[in-house]
Amino acid sequence: MNERMYELGSRRSVIREIFEYGRARAAREGADKVFDFSLGNPSVPPPAIVKETLLSLLREEDETALHGYTSAQGDLAVREAVAGYIAAKHGVKADPDHLYMTCGAAASLTITLSAICNAGDEVITFAPFFTEYKVFAETAGASLTALPSDPQTFQPDLEKLDGAIGERTAAVLINSPNNPSGVVYGEETIRRLAALLEKKSRERGKPVWLVTDEPYRELVYGGVKVPYLTAYYQNTVVCYSYSKSLSLPGERIGYIFVNPDAEGARRLYLAVCGAGRALGYVCAPSLFQKMAARCQGAVSDLSVYEKNRNTLLSALTSYGYACVPPDGAFYLFVKALEEDAFAFCERAKGYGLLLVPGDDFGCKGYVRIAYCVPPEKIERSLPYFQQLAASYGSPFHGKRPSRGVMGTI
Ligand code: PLP
Repeated sequence: MNERMYELGSRRSVIREIFEYGRARAAREGADKVFDFSLGNPSVPPPAIVKETLLSLLREEDETALHGYTSAQGDLAVREAVAGYIAAKHGVKADPDHLYMTCGAAASLTITLSAICNAGDEVITFAPFFTEYKVFAETAGASLTALPSDPQTFQPDLEKLDGAIGERTAAVLINSPNNPSGVVYGEETIRRLAALLEKKSRERGKPVWLVTDEPYRELVYGGVKVPYLTAYYQNTVVCYSYSKSLSLPGERIGYIFVNPDAEGARRLYLAVCGAGRALGYVCAPSLFQKMAARCQGAVSDLSVYEKNRNTLLSALTSYGYACVPPDGAFYLFVKALEEDAFAFCERAKGYGLLLVPGDDFGCKGYVRIAYCVPPEKIERSLPYFQQLAASYGSPFHGKRPSRGVMGTI
């Protein structure tokens, strides 16, 4: 057998491990005794338009065509609708010939990196980063290099990037709003990143691709703007997913959008089609492609996530925890109250709190709290977070440290 595949299959991700532990413990002790903050599974239902659209598709469309194969890159009418939406919403050039419908962001990323990379290439990302990036890069024959972010803000450290891009760097992979930090990369950061990638591409005489992983694009709070990357950097590929925006992670639907103005855009698009073929995707789910075409611009009710974010952020900082206030996604990336995040998570388990150590996200000493859970669960968990902090004798116990200051504990 293939040893790499055996390794991947036999070692579950830490997140899955904690999730399974939580399920077993809830079955043993009762669901109300366990506060599982491990998994990024949306806790609000899809917007009503999703069900209405699915029902009307099922009632009105020809069944054979509805459930049949579509073109490998996706149904043309669907790609037209999605491209039209991107162009109108973000004011950028988009057309169906540069759109490829996928089975969610994981497929978008695996296909895109496989289309871009050759054996021995490197993909650069910034820590903290989504744990599966290493798997996706290695599947593409490349290695993943994670550079540190600015610890005060979790914005990417562009000086480090300047020094790190080399001959073998095929792509820079970013994720904003970010899992696990919840941070959104601001416009100034994006402008500087674009200028740097342009300079590097010129110096090398070949493009450094910017791959942007965007399942959380719509999940932002307080009116924060998420810059649309193709408007800033020509050689951009957008990897999108409806998993979080429409609460449909189990249905597997998303897309890849190659900027039509990218260098050799047609060749890259064909390489995307080739990678999708080589990886055996055939086509994205037909019913959900058609649903997506009719639900452009719809978003699940984000008010629950925003409420959870505000409740947790204000309670946890008042108990002495420190974190950069997140502007998006549904995660809080909190400094552990001891150096070893695994030991901290073990202690948290004693209070029924299931948190994910930051080590697998490339950041030691932090834990991720996925707050996509019902608000009443957040409320009930607060005394346990307080007791956990008190067990460390936190000097800030009961007081509020200045918001977002890192390293104050
Ligand atoms: N990228 C990031 C940053 C994620 O958090 C996730 C899922 O949680 C994915 C990609 C995969 O998303 P999908 O379910 O659309 O494959």
